[in-house]
Amino acid sequence: MANPGLPHPIRNVVIVGGGTAGWMAAAALAHHFRNAPIRFTLIESSEIGTVGVGEATIPTIRRFYAALGMSDADVMKACSATAKLGIRFNDWLRPGHSFVHPFGRFGQDLNGVEFHQYWLAARAAGDTAPLGDYSLGAMLAQEGHATLPAPNPPSQLSIFDWALHFDAALFAQHMRRFAEGLGVTRIDARIGDVALRGEDGFIDAVILDDGRRIDGDFFIDCSGFRSLLLGEALGVGYQDWSHWLFCDGAWAVQSERVGDPPSCTAVTARTAGWQWRIPLRHREGNGIVFSSRFQSEREALDELLANLPGSPTTEPRRLRFTPGRRDAAWSKNCVALGLASGFLEPLESTSIALIETGIERLKQLFPDSSCNTALLDEYNEQTAEEMERVRDFLILHYALNGRSEPFWKACGSLDMPFSVNKKLKLWRTRGAFLRYRWEMFSPASWLAIYAGFDCLPASIDPALTGTNTAQLTRSLHAMRQSIRAAVTDTPTHAEFLEIMEATA
Ligand code: FAD
Repeated sequence: MANPGLPHPIRNVVIVGGGTAGWMAAAALAHHFRNAPIRFTLIESSEIGTVGVGEATIPTIRRFYAALGMSDADVMKACSATAKLGIRFNDWLRPGHSFVHPFGRFGQDLNGVEFHQYWLAARAAGDTAPLGDYSLGAMLAQEGHATLPAPNPPSQLSIFDWALHFDAALFAQHMRRFAEGLGVTRIDARIGDVALRGEDGFIDAVILDDGRRIDGDFFIDCSGFRSLLLGEALGVGYQDWSHWLFCDGAWAVQSERVGDPPSCTAVTARTAGWQWRIPLRHREGNGIVFSSRFQSEREALDELLANLPGSPTTEPRRLRFTPGRRDAAWSKNCVALGLASGFLEPLESTSIALIETGIERLKQLFPDSSCNTALLDEYNEQTAEEMERVRDFLILHYALNGRSEPFWKACGSLDMPFSVNKKLKLWRTRGAFLRYRWEMFSPASWLAIYAGFDCLPASIDPALTGTNTAQLTRSLHAMRQSIRAAVTDTPTHAEFLEIMEATA
């Protein structure tokens, strides 16, 4: 047996929590280390349960499960999933206005000049076509269609990506089946205490309410908002970002399916926040995210229930959160994933994607029992930067709103972090982008939000000065036509789901 005082390879990993984060970590790590002598044990409490939300994703989820050998069709069938081609923002700029943030790009770049510059030039010349008309993903979502992207897209106009809306409980079960198939041991029990090692404060074991002691040499905290290991036992602090992101609570409720499911998530601005609608095959997931500074929980609930697409099928569930992150996601021999490491808010479906990148990072930096600070520091630096970049992108949505309620006015005048201001200034000056390290969202996504909110630059690429306007208008018209024709050739989302079901 290894001398516990000397660094030795990790042999025994304990994952605390069996929500989306816990089972994703168990599945991916057990798969990654399938030939290594590492034992994985997952402890969850069915009595406590999971957060019960988190059903909209971004395309990285498909890469995540593909790496485990799972097909889209299989995951969709197992999780009652639908296709998500983007997010439709309703009423954020002003009531009655809407736009889609697609997964994918806009238009065709030409002569070394990005497409949006041509679009801006055409607008200046009086062409009113919205940017979304130049995105296949946005148009598919708009029309309620869905298809698989071409493996070898004939032009930039054919490029788009897609993600899933899935039933969170079914997804966790799917991951669990896979993880247990690889030998992960599951214990259903409540953890009452955490034993720390005297000499260095590392976690030695978790103590279950029935008295059992589960030892480990590395711990992954997926215990949800409570952050049982990282926050409570190790005392890692929390950075509160509620001065930038005002929403701090939600109500979630499921409702019956009405009509064919749309192929995008809908997020609709409300009095002091926004409402989500996530279509699944068998039901709708709905919720309202709001700021308790500007709206009471009763008012938020009433607003949600008054705007459901169908009759509710569950009791509304109240959720509270503080937007922000743990000071460090990794401390001593414990990494936190999912809500235990922080949460911003659900607007751009980034939380599950952050679990994916956390797992990926852990694979790259997996330690021995000494948990060398070189690894911790790198992990924590990357995680912090990535969270900050997501935070910036979310802030942008609120900052650009054009609504008149007190909540929205306050969002419109908030003091933004320097990193967002810098980007916005560059965009407003010249329609240019700035990309930082570890950004989850590409310039195309920033463009979708800028354009969706009618935030346009003061000047465009000087290379386009003197462009023949009639010729430009004709080319842009041809691009729009080509995208429309492509959409017409695709199945409706309902037909697409049948096709996927048949191939599972
Ligand atoms: P949980 O699901 O809370 O799991 C915690 C686990 O820890 C449970 O198994 C619990 O039993 C266990 N546990 C806790 N304490 C103990 C104990 N003492 N003993 C034993 N076990 C214990 N993300 C997205 O990507 N897309 C979305 O659309 C989205 N929407 C959201 C909407 C809202 C309103 C909120 C609040 C979050 C949303 N999220 C979304 C975030 C998403 O829900 C989470 O990232 C995801 O579900 C992972 O949660 P988790 O596994 O970290 O925590």
